[in-house]
Formats: sequence, C-alpha cells, structure tokens
Amino acid sequence: MLSYALKPTKILCVARNYVAHIKELDNEVPSQPALFMKPPSAIANEIYFNKQDPIHYEGELCFIIKDGKFSKVGFGLDLTKREIQSQLKAKGLPWERAKAFDGSAVFSEFVAFSGEVKDLRLELFINGQLAQQGGCELMLYQPEEILADIQSFCTLVDGDIIMTGTPKGVGEIHQGDKFVGKIFSQQELLVEKAWIVK
Ligand code: ZN
Repeated sequence: MLSYALKPTKILCVARNYVAHIKELDNEVPSQPALFMKPPSAIANEIYFNKQDPIHYEGELCFIIKDGKFSKVGFGLDLTKREIQSQLKAKGLPWERAKAFDGSAVFSEFVAFSGEVKDLRLELFINGQLAQQGGCELMLYQPEEILADIQSFCTLVDGDIIMTGTPKGVGEIHQGDKFVGKIFSQQELLVEKAWIVK
C-alpha cells in the first residue's frame, strides 16, 4: 500500500555510500555508485517484524524526483533481510529477495527544501537512543552525482524516489521498537516521523 500518495514507478537505491558502513559490513569500496532497485509494491506505512527472516534497518536520506531534479527530501528505511542478502552476495546473485520484498521501503512524508543538498543530514533514534546519523559530508557519492549517474542509463519520471545509502549503525529490528527518523538541513528540522515496529 502506498503511503502519502507516493507513486514512484521505481525506487533507486545506493549501496555502500558511506565508508564507515562499508567497513561495518566488510564490503569493498565501489568504483562507481552500487545501485539496486525496489518496486513500488515495496512501500509500506508500517515497519513489520519478521520472525523467520530477521530484518535490519538502514536509515537513508531520500529524494523525490520532479522534472529530472530533486524536488523533495524525506527519511526512508531501506529494510533488508540481512541473512538472505549475505547468502545472495556470497553466490554473486541479485539482491531482490533481500531488498525488494513487500514492506521493505518505509518513508516519512517528503518535504520541499530551500537550502543546499549538501546541508541535508539524517538522524535515526531507536527507543530513544541515537542509532544512526549521517549526511552528505560522509557520502562517497553526493546525491547530485548519484542522480546524474542513474540518469546516464535510466529515465527517472516524476515521483520516482532515490535512496542515497545508509551511514554506519545498522542493526536488527525487534517487535515493539520505536523508530524515529529525522531529516535536517544543517540544524533545522525539516521532517520527523515515528513508527512502532508491528
Ligand atoms: Zn540501503
């Protein structure tokens, strides 16, 4: 089910865009943005626990596209079945089973911003503790570089979403956890959204 009337034709995601997160998962630093996609059916309003396949959170700075440019920013969770992803990675197989499942994309509202993209940053609190924080200054590839790279081979239409990767601090979700995602432009809070894991 789509939240906040989000109607992307696709969601483009960047893996391995923060050096400290690359190290925490023991991955190689990519020589170009490492991209994957989520389908619109991945979007959910709630975060759902999955007992069988543990789900890990990745808090990310996200953008909505209009006229080929970033029009709005929001907080997004790239929810990941990490064990399945590790198995797929080990075999060199695509990640869709671990990244594109129903409910794997959860977003705050998207809001217009007037400042510069480079001043945007995120914070993720879990049960009142700061779990993740990061912003453009920690990214390997800046959002505009990612956008240009994607558009070099793939047409983005109005409403498409870009997820720019996660900073360090990823981990497993548990039933009842309270997640609060925030997006700032420098010190100014632009949007905040809370969820309780179902
Ligand atoms: Zn991610």
